[in-house]
Amino acid sequence: MRQYLIIGNWKMNGNLAENEQLLNTISSSHALAEGCEVVVCPPSIYIPHVRQQLLQSKVKYGAQNVNEHINGAYTGETSATMLHDLGCSYVLLGHSERRSLNHESDEQIAGKFAAAVQANIKPVLCVGETLAQRQGDETFLVIAEQIKKVVEQVGIQAFEHAVIAYEPVWAIGTGETATPEQAQEIHNLIRRQLAEFDVNIASNILIIYGGSVNSNNARTLFSQPDIDGGLVGGASLNADVFINICKAYN
Ligand code: PEP
Repeated sequence: MRQYLIIGNWKMNGNLAENEQLLNTISSSHALAEGCEVVVCPPSIYIPHVRQQLLQSKVKYGAQNVNEHINGAYTGETSATMLHDLGCSYVLLGHSERRSLNHESDEQIAGKFAAAVQANIKPVLCVGETLAQRQGDETFLVIAEQIKKVVEQVGIQAFEHAVIAYEPVWAIGTGETATPEQAQEIHNLIRRQLAEFDVNIASNILIIYGGSVNSNNARTLFSQPDIDGGLVGGASLNADVFINICKAYN
């Protein structure tokens, strides 16, 4: 039985006062029921404050990125062992904004994945197609390649505690959402692709959907058989909306 997972990606938003208010409301909500894990990913600089605030809470936290090296001369970077030191449970990897703005390659993302697994942090591997790729009928080819490159580099066993986030690039921050049927089709294809490597991992892995999830569309998306929750950007900055999304899983 797969547990539901809702992750809030705050991106480069917030400040101490706003974060405190947001977390106070979220962690005091009764929406955090059994069977659904709730995670927030603040900008790295705020992780120590978020950690402090969530000490007594069921809400977990993670990072939005990690470096692929363990330590060394990488100015401005953060390693997986450092994130582990601060109690991070998850790290987002290969978000489309990092793929496009920071030119992250599948090989580099695989290196980050391996570093996270080694440090006991769950990687959340983001995959997804652009609008042009969808219109060119390349959606599954693109996603299959993004996943294959990581599996080949880290091995399928490394996916035992990982999460995959299907995030169509055309739906991120645009207000456009994949229909539940479109999302389900891709989630199912991802699960079938993983089953070619390992049937158990494929059936147990959480595959969450991201791309303009809000309190109106969450319920129908999460009711699809292969959608195990959501990766929520903009809507995770509003406590009430985020809580409603968390409630939508059941
Ligand atoms: C994201 O940043 O991962 C995301 C899905 O953003 P939004 O929900 O704003 O589309």
